[in-house]
Amino acid sequence: MLWRLTLFLLIHLAVGVAGWWLANAAGALVGMIIASVCWFVLDGLRGHKVARWLRDGSAADAPRMHGLWGEVADRARRALRLREQGVRDADARLDEFLTAIQASPIGVVLLDGEGRIEWFNAISALQFGFDTSRDLGQHIGNLVRDPLFALYDAGGDFKHDIVMPGRQSTAQRPVRLSVHLHPYGKGRKLLLARDVTAVEQAEVMRRDFVANVSHEIRTPLTVLAGFVETLQELPLGADERAHYLMLMAQQAQRMQTLVNDLLTLSRLEGSPSPCTDQWTSVAQLLESCASEGQALSRLLYPPAGQQLAFVDGWDGDIAGTRVELLSAMSNLVSNAIRYSPTDGQITVSWSLVDDGRVEFAVEDTGPGIAPEHVSRLTERFYRVDSSRSRETGGTGLGLAIVKHVAQRHGGELRIDSQPGRGSRFAMLLPASRVRARATPALNSAVAPDQRVETTSTALS
Ligand code: ADP
Repeated sequence: MLWRLTLFLLIHLAVGVAGWWLANAAGALVGMIIASVCWFVLDGLRGHKVARWLRDGSAADAPRMHGLWGEVADRARRALRLREQGVRDADARLDEFLTAIQASPIGVVLLDGEGRIEWFNAISALQFGFDTSRDLGQHIGNLVRDPLFALYDAGGDFKHDIVMPGRQSTAQRPVRLSVHLHPYGKGRKLLLARDVTAVEQAEVMRRDFVANVSHEIRTPLTVLAGFVETLQELPLGADERAHYLMLMAQQAQRMQTLVNDLLTLSRLEGSPSPCTDQWTSVAQLLESCASEGQALSRLLYPPAGQQLAFVDGWDGDIAGTRVELLSAMSNLVSNAIRYSPTDGQITVSWSLVDDGRVEFAVEDTGPGIAPEHVSRLTERFYRVDSSRSRETGGTGLGLAIVKHVAQRHGGELRIDSQPGRGSRFAMLLPASRVRARATPALNSAVAPDQRVETTSTALS
């Protein structure tokens, strides 16, 4: 400022001296007046330039000049730069924040004070069928038309969420959404929507499971209690007592089998996958399975049992838990025996599949299964023929156990069936769990290289 004043005075002094030299005092006065006018006009122009830039320009367009106005422009440019950087940082943070909300598995919708949609993420667009170009600014009530939501929104009590069907929900594939409104700011609301279909299904399954287990246990328990009462109250002969005791033993056995299967399932679910360095001989598994199967067939269809064939088409070892593998194999063989008629033929085999996997297959000539049941067979307690299952000691858990065992060993269960012609159940195990043998096992129950037809009679 001091420099500016000095310059002002110096210019006026110089012009005054020049005017004096040309035309004495009048010349000095006119010269200084002209110098003042020029100074203020020039200063005004420079100030105007800075003011115009401050009105419309950005930091990059700042006018370059010297003097006071140059300093003003420079300081303003620096302040503007800092502000622009701040805005850029805030924009970047907002972008990151929105990207994070976009990536969230929860649907997020921002509503203004009137309930109009200000912003929504991609998940909520799927959940409610929103369209960015069409639905921004629309009232939420016009787009989410479920009466439950309308009541919830109007009620104003947002302590709890509501559960309503999602936009993509169909009778075959229901989708359930938990929707929660959170008020914030001046009448604004944040809508959070979570897909709870799986949670609800798990809860339904848990309830069904408890109901099924109770039912399965209650039935033999009621029968047992009835027999105990009969034995206590009626004067029975020795033969009759023996008969009742035999029936009671059957019911107790039924409960024991059920509890054993439940424990097996819970062990399968609660333990880590079987390790890959414990090898089990397929020949030995088949041997145990064959003797169990033959005994069961003789018991159910005395005296000869059915036609059972155990085919040792592949000899090697499987990396897995012997008890689990045997349990899966026995369940499949036992099903084939229990559901096939007296003259039924059952073929049990291990074989190598083209892609290096091995397959344990059980084929029967039983009643077969209608296609609509096949996909549900591995559900717990799902039975096609309930009376046949119970008559023959079934628990409804066998195929659930087989599926679990197969999956825990990295494999799968395949079911092919034709009503009236028979069924084929195959447990496929991955190549990573398979080890071929150099020499065939000597203690195998069946010849290693050929199909062996056996009946229970032949082995009895
Ligand atoms: P269960 O103890 O009742 O046999 P599973 O889970 O082993 O229970 O089998 C489920 C249902 O699948 C059975 O109740 C039966 O209706 C059907 N099923 C299983 N294996 C066969 C088969 N080989 N032939 C016909 N139906 C079968």
